[in-house]
Amino acid sequence: MTITIIPPSVNNHYGLLEQQLALQELVRDFAQREIKPLAAEIDEKESYPSQTFKKMGELGLMGLPWPEEYGGGGADYLSYVIAIEEIAKVCGSTALSYAAHVSLGTAPIVLFGTPAQKQRWLPALCSGRSVGSWALTEPQAGSDAACLNTVALRDGNEYILSGVKQFITNPPFSEAVIVMAMTDRLKGNNGISSFIVPASSEGFAIGKHEKKLGMRGSPTCEIILRNVRVPADQRLGEENTGFKQAMKTLDGGRISIGALALGIAQGAFAEALAYANARSAFGRPIGKHQAIAHMLAEMSTQIHGARLMVYHAARLKDANLEHTLAGAQAKLFASEMAMKVTTDAVQVLGGYGYVRDFPVERMMRDAKLCEIGEGTSQIQRLVIARKIGL
Ligand SMILES: Cc1cc2nc3c(=O)[nH]c(=O)nc-3n(C[C@H](O)[C@H](O)[C@H](O)COP(=O)(O)OP(=O)(O)OC[C@H]3O[C@@H](n4cnc5c(N)ncnc54)[C@H](O)[C@@H]3O)c2cc1C
Repeated sequence: MTITIIPPSVNNHYGLLEQQLALQELVRDFAQREIKPLAAEIDEKESYPSQTFKKMGELGLMGLPWPEEYGGGGADYLSYVIAIEEIAKVCGSTALSYAAHVSLGTAPIVLFGTPAQKQRWLPALCSGRSVGSWALTEPQAGSDAACLNTVALRDGNEYILSGVKQFITNPPFSEAVIVMAMTDRLKGNNGISSFIVPASSEGFAIGKHEKKLGMRGSPTCEIILRNVRVPADQRLGEENTGFKQAMKTLDGGRISIGALALGIAQGAFAEALAYANARSAFGRPIGKHQAIAHMLAEMSTQIHGARLMVYHAARLKDANLEHTLAGAQAKLFASEMAMKVTTDAVQVLGGYGYVRDFPVERMMRDAKLCEIGEGTSQIQRLVIARKIGL
């Protein structure tokens, strides 16, 4: 394979490879045509765009960074990050469900699955027939993720799972959900295992659908497990290694939430910039008033910084280098940046920013999730503090 690096230019500040630029163009075009027209409606109606995921599967996006032998696209993680960014520019909800599908609902099978598990589950996930879900959080266990009440008791060649999972992205689309459960409570963190649980299993039920501030077109559900029997060969990796798997999964997932935040911010910035040129007050475009011009200058600078951090973390992951610190820093910076940029975008649009005829209020509501999901900003600071030697 020949790799062509396009030198930095007006259109490629970030040293992307030819194939990454081509993918960016492809996803941008698809997002504008197929995702943007639905974004306001799925937010308003809290409906889920299942057809979009089928189309994204046909386009090769649903398994973009996973091995071709299982139906994946064989692309690098940076390409996947670019795809999330392009989708998030127009629809945070679709981008969140996509990121949760790839980095949480599929990655653990790629990373820790046996060849038989990969053969059984990956083709459906990579084609978009099934959308992945990953269930760690419980009502009493969010940031304190190891404090699980869900248990998995060994019974011959099966495990019996019981418990309740909360705030899980995507279950209504999923053929199976990856569930973390206690297999040895006395061992704490080291007593957790993860399982691929078919949604058709007896005793498996989707409970409450959360009504949310933002990301309203992405399903967030409770999962109820009532004595669900799961064959032992559907356990991922060795028994009691589930927490380590979860931390490794989140290392990649955080980069994708950074990309989600980045895309939302870029989308809001584009709206604000266009509005600043079109709207006049006191005899000139509002963008010619220094207060608005400086706000937009600041937004573009913050977005640029976040993009450098998110792409850098993805490149470290692609090079198989340590990326826990870079991923946590990128997620923290990008999500707090997105909250500020989307809030300022609402300000640039004034009263029109506050009403639903324009997308920036939705983008502001969507951005907030990035400071919470896959570890809050407080937890990112904790991870960073540990990594820098505290
Ligand atoms: C839309 C959405 C989608 C989600 N999708 C998924 C999913 O697919 N799978 C999944 O497993 N989970 C998912 N989650 C759950 C998410 O990861 C948790 O909500 C998040 O980790 C925070 O946990 P919590 O809500 O229990 O808050 P808590 O842990 O109760 O935190 C409450 C507050 O206390 C702070 N805090 C807690 N501990 C500390 C500490 N040690 N130091 C400083 N501050 C602290 C937090 O930062 C926060 O501000 C999702 C959540 C949402 C809202």
